[in-house]
Amino acid sequence: MAEKAAVSRDVFDRVILPFFAPAQFIPVKGKGSRVWDQQGTEYVDFAGGIAVTALGHCHPALVKALHEQGETLWHVSNVFTNEPALRLAQKLIDATFADRVFFANSGAEANEAAFKLARYYASHRHSPYKSKIIAFHNGFHGRTLFTVSVGGQPKYSDGFGPKPADIIHVPFNDLEAVKAVIDDHTCAIVVEPVQGEGGVTPATQEFLQGLRDLCDQHQALLVFDEVQTGMGRSGKLFSYMHYGVTPDILTTAKALGGGFPVSAMLATEDVAAVMEPGKHGTTYGGNPLACAVAEAALDIINTPEVLAGISERREKFIQGLDAINQKHGVFKAFRGQGLLIGAELSDAYQNRAGDFHKAAAEFGLMILVAGPNVIRLAPSLVIEFADISEGMNRFEKAIGKVLGA
Ligand SMILES: *Cc1c(COP(=O)(O)O)cnc(C)c1O
Repeated sequence: MAEKAAVSRDVFDRVILPFFAPAQFIPVKGKGSRVWDQQGTEYVDFAGGIAVTALGHCHPALVKALHEQGETLWHVSNVFTNEPALRLAQKLIDATFADRVFFANSGAEANEAAFKLARYYASHRHSPYKSKIIAFHNGFHGRTLFTVSVGGQPKYSDGFGPKPADIIHVPFNDLEAVKAVIDDHTCAIVVEPVQGEGGVTPATQEFLQGLRDLCDQHQALLVFDEVQTGMGRSGKLFSYMHYGVTPDILTTAKALGGGFPVSAMLATEDVAAVMEPGKHGTTYGGNPLACAVAEAALDIINTPEVLAGISERREKFIQGLDAINQKHGVFKAFRGQGLLIGAELSDAYQNRAGDFHKAAAEFGLMILVAGPNVIRLAPSLVIEFADISEGMNRFEKAIGKVLGA
């Protein structure tokens, strides 16, 4: 085998398009909730690859599934079906409201499929003029032109030319605002049960229930984007299960493959029935490697032990954050669901989330932000309690440094 060339962080600045500004160290190895960089420095991982590595790094069951499938069959395209995809689809159906599944490779692609399906359903069943999509300020649905346009953050969607038409944004958790714009030309309401990127803000019960009722009144579809909240992140398999409000279409991705790229759109039979071969597609969607790993992840996550452990761990996290706050008063509120945790910075530290993020890395801790004022944690769902304690120790030191600076 050819010798691998040595690479360092400065290579990034020369060869990768500057869409990102990654940390100054390069992770090379992970195990559970610990990660090591090129210099051998060790980090506690409270970020989970942005809510993706839900079973930690290199979980033995996932490694085994990947290894076995890797020696069996990698790819056949959608000209053929394959066993891992069929098994995974059946398990997702058995575990949820859904009757049908479409696999893709990323959250944006699952959402793209969901929005196209909602538009197609309305045009097929009702009228070609029934195309309005209602979505929410600060919502996030991905970076394709359609999904970023449905997302409610102009800083992400502006500057790329004309956007897909007939998408309207109103404030999140504001049912009156939805009532003011919904009509019989509305094909779908698209919402995250907990807004992730937009600040870790859960929907209220009345809001989601109200959206369901409005959709039913106007023959519109309710689409839940559970790309971030799905697959146990919320403490139940999907966040909608906390609310008892059932969507017509649901998308999920991030944790689905535990780190292997895969996404799914789930739909009811009624909605799925309008589709026919050739209307939509993807080369890699339902790839056997991806589905084999996702099946192994689902088998572990969708068990009473793992799901119950999520609320225990959430408590431990909130206790840790609370203890830090008693000393330093940096947070004004803790939000979220399960192991999607948002800590909102107090008024004295507005716009400083990036500083805390950077300081955490210096003390050996990986965390996330959600906008300039919220620290976001999305650790492994099976993180060891000792790792939580150690991570909190490091976080406190990092916060001390920011405050002392
Ligand atoms: C991350 C995210 C997406 C986009 O997923 P990608 O895999 O990055 O395309 C869409 N919706 C939500 C709610 C997300 O958190």
